[in-house]
Amino acid sequence: MRFRSLVLLLVVLAASFAVPVSRAQSPAQTNAQQASQAQTPEKPAYSLPPEKLKQAIAYSRIRVVLDFAESGWGIVMLVLLLALGIARWMQDVAVGASGNRWVQGFLFTFLFLFITTLLMLPLDMYGHHESVRFGQSVQGWGSWFGDQAKSFGLTFVLGGLFVMLLFWVIGRSPRRWWFWFWIPAMAAAVFGVFISPMVIDPMFNKFEPLEKTNPALVERLEQVVQRGGISIPPDRMFLMKASEKVTGLNAYVTGFGPSKRVVVWDTSVQKATPDEILFIFGHEMGHYVLGHIRSTVEFIGLLLLIEFYLGYRGIGWLIRRYGGRWRVESQNDWAMLVALMLVFSVLSFISEPIVNGYSRAHEHAADVYGQEAIHGIVADPQTTAQQAFQLLGEASLTDPNPNRFVEFWTFSHPSVASRAAFAAAYNPWVPGGHPKYFKR
Ligand SMILES: [Zn+2]
Repeated sequence: MRFRSLVLLLVVLAASFAVPVSRAQSPAQTNAQQASQAQTPEKPAYSLPPEKLKQAIAYSRIRVVLDFAESGWGIVMLVLLLALGIARWMQDVAVGASGNRWVQGFLFTFLFLFITTLLMLPLDMYGHHESVRFGQSVQGWGSWFGDQAKSFGLTFVLGGLFVMLLFWVIGRSPRRWWFWFWIPAMAAAVFGVFISPMVIDPMFNKFEPLEKTNPALVERLEQVVQRGGISIPPDRMFLMKASEKVTGLNAYVTGFGPSKRVVVWDTSVQKATPDEILFIFGHEMGHYVLGHIRSTVEFIGLLLLIEFYLGYRGIGWLIRRYGGRWRVESQNDWAMLVALMLVFSVLSFISEPIVNGYSRAHEHAADVYGQEAIHGIVADPQTTAQQAFQLLGEASLTDPNPNRFVEFWTFSHPSVASRAAFAAAYNPWVPGGHPKYFKR
């Protein structure tokens, strides 16, 4: 896990529910796909015209290479920082600058973040360049760098606080810090999910009341909300000006308790039919009603506890074995943080397929929920859902036939092709059918 991603775990947690576009396939879905293909062998539920297909394959290939390159380079980069003595040098600079622990901790955090961000920048820039080239992003470099700077500032402040807390806990409990630090880390993650729609999201995008521009859509979303048996009043529905930066579409529910809200991207309003927006929204509402946010926090929490423990054991081993060469003598050294991030990066890469497999199961359940939620509200839920996936896939240049291994390792959602095929085949309202989440 990159340092930045550890600190912004909470943002990622919230954001993981905000991207309906995607990928991989469960056996049940494969059956659904085969069933639907048997009915209509000439055309799969999700397909692209030849020119778009070429682009989609090229773009997917670039994203996959970038994805693995970022993980790989993230690990190599940390090894280099340690082996070349840069980690120790950062510590010497921090300790030399002041006797005050707070100054040292924040200065070390700044140096570490600054150097790793610079080393990652070429890959990040290449990724943005390609997403512009393939029409996925319309964000100019000025605005893009502005976002990077904001994210850097945010990570620096939050990260610095976490670093101070971590070293304080390590000082108090050298053998059990992995557990005692895990508790405030989890509390911060939960608080982050709560606060980010109000504080962090508006730093990166503009929001306005959905009712202002789309009162008719609000009325129909309310029908779906009521059918789901939850309460989200119209003044908690927002339009996000996503079109200033991206071309993909989305609608989601975020926050909890008093910060709970519905967000519809303006790109969705421009490109999708109201029926399709209702389905996308129904899917996102499914995450809420089915308790996915809570169970994901619990799942990630458990994983984090294991990672913290392995982090503790990992740096013990690294310091014993390489501490002399790296001049990182104990877990109380600021430079230890680089070794800890190295252990986290490796663990995070290894656990990627576990986290993604867990997420794909949730996404499939939300698809089922979404389709059932719009029954009786839209004329033809099957076609609506299938067309929504066609639109999402086309807009985000999704490859209809992704590589199986890449799906297994990196896809947080089932493949668009399998989701579209499932949608086209799924009708629990026929005689003898059994809706999973709603009464007939
Ligand atoms: Zn989802």
